[in-house]
Amino acid sequence: MSTTNGAVRKRVGVLALQGDFDAHAKAIASAGGEPVEVRTGEQLRAVDGLVIPGGESTTMLKLLNMMDLVEPLAEFARTKPVFGTCAGAILLATEVLNPSQQSFGAMDLTVERNAYGRQIDSRVATISPAAEFQRRAGEGDVEAVFIRAPIIRRTGPGVTVLAEYDGDPVLVEQGRHLVATFHPELTHDSRVHKLFLSKI
Ligand code: GLN
Repeated sequence: MSTTNGAVRKRVGVLALQGDFDAHAKAIASAGGEPVEVRTGEQLRAVDGLVIPGGESTTMLKLLNMMDLVEPLAEFARTKPVFGTCAGAILLATEVLNPSQQSFGAMDLTVERNAYGRQIDSRVATISPAAEFQRRAGEGDVEAVFIRAPIIRRTGPGVTVLAEYDGDPVLVEQGRHLVATFHPELTHDSRVHKLFLSKI
């Protein structure tokens, strides 16, 4: 297992209320970080970065509200890196469509839920990431698993597109935050998680 810059492994929280948080914890470990499941504000305050996994964004929102985690998470995102995948991407956007719902607005994005339609719920695509991604994370294509994925319909001026699929952004960053509409935790390629670790 790799180490990150010597002795100390970065403590990366994985929001563990619902969704595929376990796959993210494993991906963080293979990228060289120390995964920590987060279910309380106290656990959140003890980590250096946070992954919001895929799952069902409406259910995650309900649980975040029930557990009084909305304000702590908003506060966390003001100073520390957050990586949202799929449902996590929806939660981090400034605007959500289909239908409109509460979100954290940590990334200047408009995101449309379930935007690939019902017939093509899931797919695996090979995408060629932007040169910027390959320079920082490593060369080569990325296998992208989409599961009832949203489409990023608008990116604000501060957002950098790191990969596209079919003309739409699928991996984007803004400052310390990172968003993927696909599921990098479901493949053995740890470059996307390594890129997130490098932002912590
Ligand atoms: N369709 C889900 C939502 O709208 C997201 C799917 C996923 O995270 N794989 O929240």
